[in-house]
Amino acid sequence: MQLQNAIKEFKTTLQVNNAYGYASMVLSIDGSTAAPVASVQHRAETMSFFAGLRHERLTAPETGELLAFLDEHKKELDELTAREVHLVKKNRDQMSKIPAQEYVAYVSLLSRADVSWKQAKAENEFSIFQSDLEQIISTNIKLAGYYDSSKKPYDALLNEYEKDLTTQTLDAFFAQLRQTIVPLVHQISEKPQLDDSFLHGCFPVHLQAALSQDAMDLIGIDKNRCTLTTTEHPFTGGFSRNDVRMTTHYYPEHLAYALYSTIHEGGHALYELGMAERLTGSPANGGASMAMHESQSRFYENIIGRSRPFMDLLLPLLRRHFPDVFASVDADMLYKAVNRSEPSLIRTEAD
Ligand SMILES: [Zn+2]
Repeated sequence: MQLQNAIKEFKTTLQVNNAYGYASMVLSIDGSTAAPVASVQHRAETMSFFAGLRHERLTAPETGELLAFLDEHKKELDELTAREVHLVKKNRDQMSKIPAQEYVAYVSLLSRADVSWKQAKAENEFSIFQSDLEQIISTNIKLAGYYDSSKKPYDALLNEYEKDLTTQTLDAFFAQLRQTIVPLVHQISEKPQLDDSFLHGCFPVHLQAALSQDAMDLIGIDKNRCTLTTTEHPFTGGFSRNDVRMTTHYYPEHLAYALYSTIHEGGHALYELGMAERLTGSPANGGASMAMHESQSRFYENIIGRSRPFMDLLLPLLRRHFPDVFASVDADMLYKAVNRSEPSLIRTEAD
């Protein structure tokens, strides 16, 4: 095989992979944001179909031969192609261990579970989601065995999110945090609580949506390349530097939730918007790792978004959309209110 021909063939494989991935992600985002509940079955079937095609193509012997050839010549490849070969090879090695039928069934399960989870939440009825959740957990334990049977299941799964991170490292990390944070929470709860009452009340969703749009402008998001919609649980998805989708969730009685979720997701979005043009369609697009991504969102949410200087920029926006509430609130009061700290069972609300 000629190297140039192999590279050409590999780039075509990337294009096909990207097309399946792109279509699946559009379907997934549509399912979380705009699609009606009854669409779930058809969408799950379609996503499974794409997953089957992706599995088939990736695990095909000719893909294996192509990747092995390119891997042998990796020193002759440009930096991006070498990285792409590494990523696709890793993906193929992993995918080859998962039987196609199991992989397809899992993709279908995830689409259905998204709907049962939402319904269970709306009706406050865990039994609606219980069976799907049990299947997700048992499938993941199985997947962990496929990924790396020498590791504990949690470590094998953790490696998918943050390479080489282990529960041992994390346990030590959290033990150290606990030593400082638990006494701190007790100290805070013994003191008079900061006043954040003006952030609770009645805040019409359309006004909160306008505020979120202003918050996006404030942190420098280019709306030609990024949109904001609503979903049950906020997230951000990036197709490329020119197509980033943010979501948020509005609670009419709680102003800070959507505002800070927008700023948090905005941090994720800015990271995705900063991807290089040449990474469009490449498996190397999308950031260095999960922890790197979360560092960006938390930096915007907490280090910038809850800082005293930011209050001078935020307060005029709040006064624009909720003049009655914020006429008598100054920047110092706002600074204290958004930094009020209390324990919560909801992860995104917990400090
Ligand atoms: Zn995040």
